Amino acid sequence: MPIYEYRCNNCGRKVSLLIRGSSSEPVCTACGSKELSRLFSTFAMKRPDTAVYDDILSDPYLMRGLKENNPRALAKWSRKMSDAMGEKRDGLSEEWLGRMEHGQMPSQQEISKAQEEYLSKEPE
Ligand SMILES: [Zn+2]
Repeated sequence: MPIYEYRCNNCGRKVSLLIRGSSSEPVCTACGSKELSRLFSTFAMKRPDTAVYDDILSDPYLMRGLKENNPRALAKWSRKMSDAMGEKRDGLSEEWLGRMEHGQMPSQQEISKAQEEYLSKEPE
C-alpha cells in the first residue's frame, strides 16, 4: 500500500494518498478532482513492508507532517522508507534530505528533474 504524493491539476493542492491496489484511482482530498499529477515517485515503495507502514502510520507527527507537506516529515519518511528497503538512497540525494531536514522544500522544478533522471535509470 504505497503512499504517493500528487498535485491536483484542478485546485493546485498537494495531497498524500495511500493507494490500495493498482486499480484504485487517486482523488483529490480537497476538491474531489481526479486530475492529479504524481509527485515524488522516488518515495514509492518497491515492495510492500507492512512494518514500516505501521511505524509511519503510528507516528502522528509524521502523518500530520506528510499531510501538510512538511519537508522535515517528508525527509524523515524518505529515510524510513529507504532504511526499510535496505537500499541506498537513489531517489533523493543526501543534499536534498539535508535541506528538507532544515525545513527547505526542493522546488517543483528540481523535483521534476530528479524524477526524470530517476525514471530514466529504472531498469523495467
Ligand atoms: Zn483538488
